[in-house]
Amino acid sequence: MNRDAILREMGIGPRWKLRVAPAAVSHVAAGIIDEEPVVPPIAPAAARTVRMTPATPPALDADDGQRERRIAQMDWSDLKAAVGACTACGLCKGRTNTVFGVGDESAGWMIVGEAPGAEEDAKGEPFVGQAGRLLDAMLTALDMRRGVDVYIANVLKCRPPGNRNPEAAEVARCAPHLLRQIALVRPALIVLMGRFAAQTLLETDASIASLRGRVHDYRGTPAIVTYHPAYLLRTLTDKAKSWEDLLFARTTYRRLQSATGATT
Ligand code: URA
Repeated sequence: MNRDAILREMGIGPRWKLRVAPAAVSHVAAGIIDEEPVVPPIAPAAARTVRMTPATPPALDADDGQRERRIAQMDWSDLKAAVGACTACGLCKGRTNTVFGVGDESAGWMIVGEAPGAEEDAKGEPFVGQAGRLLDAMLTALDMRRGVDVYIANVLKCRPPGNRNPEAAEVARCAPHLLRQIALVRPALIVLMGRFAAQTLLETDASIASLRGRVHDYRGTPAIVTYHPAYLLRTLTDKAKSWEDLLFARTTYRRLQSATGATT
């Protein structure tokens, strides 16, 4: 399937064209997908800090600090084992599988989602359900592939019952695993999909709409915020915005690569 067909299937192609100003239509029609949004330069860390309301601090107990420090020292194999055996919150009782993460463990891109759903719980792999198929289509349209160019992980490694939202205490207990994954992958860019990924890593309770369209700083790594694919399945009108965000991410990534002289 060519990129136009993929984008049409995603419900983006025609809308993308419609959103373009009339003067640009013929230019865009020649190569809609390669038309990238104007990207502001990446601001120095201080300037790109978003004004944020601090997220509600999660409930932690005395052992959590020690546990976090232990997780922060783990290598891949210890971290995988720790997640597989984790009983730090009640979600362990309902899981079929933990959902650790998938992809290139030294990828330039890292994508962070929210939590496994039923299909992910059954297979032990993130984003393999309907939302995952949309994510895969978007990656394909960017000439990227799951398992090769990106590493994909969630904030939570176990499925919340009935796909309810993650609770603050669950996020607090599970997030150290994600933070360690990011530290081990050392991606050049992180794409945060949805409210829980963005709010957890950027420590904010700001909305996705207000966080989109600029480069944030996650502990020195550029991070870009976009809508969650599951939300896009329900809100078709925002698919084009998400595609815009991914093009912004690609442009930002390329800019970072050329600034560091990297070849990939
Ligand atoms: N939604 C997510 O955030 N992650 C998954 O793995 C699946 C659906």
